Amino acid sequence: MSDLLLSAQHLTKRFGGLAAVNDVSVDLFRDRIHAVIGPNGAGKSTLTNLLSGDLPPTIGQITLNGAHTAGKKPETISRLGLGRSYQKTNIFLPFTVWDNVRLAAQSRERHGPWNPLRWLSSASAMPGVNERCERALELAGLTARAHTVAATISHGEQRQLEIAMTLATEPTVLLLDEPLAGMGQAEAESMVALLLRIKKDHAMMLVEHDMDAVFTLADQLTVMVNGQVIATGTPAEVRADAGVQAAYLGE
Ligand code: ADP
Ligand code: MG
Repeated sequence: MSDLLLSAQHLTKRFGGLAAVNDVSVDLFRDRIHAVIGPNGAGKSTLTNLLSGDLPPTIGQITLNGAHTAGKKPETISRLGLGRSYQKTNIFLPFTVWDNVRLAAQSRERHGPWNPLRWLSSASAMPGVNERCERALELAGLTARAHTVAATISHGEQRQLEIAMTLATEPTVLLLDEPLAGMGQAEAESMVALLLRIKKDHAMMLVEHDMDAVFTLADQLTVMVNGQVIATGTPAEVRADAGVQAAYLGE
């Protein structure tokens, strides 16, 4: 099986006259983290939304695990192996950590309208769901928190829970939009350790502002400004790029 799990070619997304993403190509490989950085408004979240199907591209092709997915629905793309976290949390705060992960595990199979209570009551009938949830919680370092109500865990643990919820759908490709946002140093360090744990067997695109984390984690680094890629390569190559230093890194 090829290690190129997701390949996006020449993606453009226009909102009226604005090209939020402008002719961007990105490849994601198994066991590798591809970080995407750039100032606010660069188009990083829009790119994530194009890959996940939350937005259809205006132009461009996406191949995920051998299937053409540009313009397909998020549920379809999820079933083909893509998992994503959102910049704004998706957690259902009144439920326990375990029930949140269980809901996420089932979302891949979901049919009909959003009805968490109905999903929870049908969960035990679904083969493999409990095992998937246990694995996801363990990888995310939240096993001890399984029966705690999500509203009462720390901010850092809520971000770990989002990762667990994403893992519960058993994706091969992970898109993470600013998983370190709003974290203190200790929380950021445990998130970096978590991301290194889940790197194995996954292809990951990491949108992140924390440069220490990016340079620790990334195998490949892409810099976006105003919807366009201004540099891509290994972190060392990008760091040495004079144009990037002038436009973004401010060194
Ligand atoms: P980033 O995540 O890098 O901060 P975004 O992808 O959120 O950037 O936004 C890129 C540009 O697209 C911004 O100028 C933003 O205002 C615009 N934009 C994002 N989403 C929409 C939308 N749904 N409709 C119109 N403009 C949008
Ligand atoms: Mg964003």
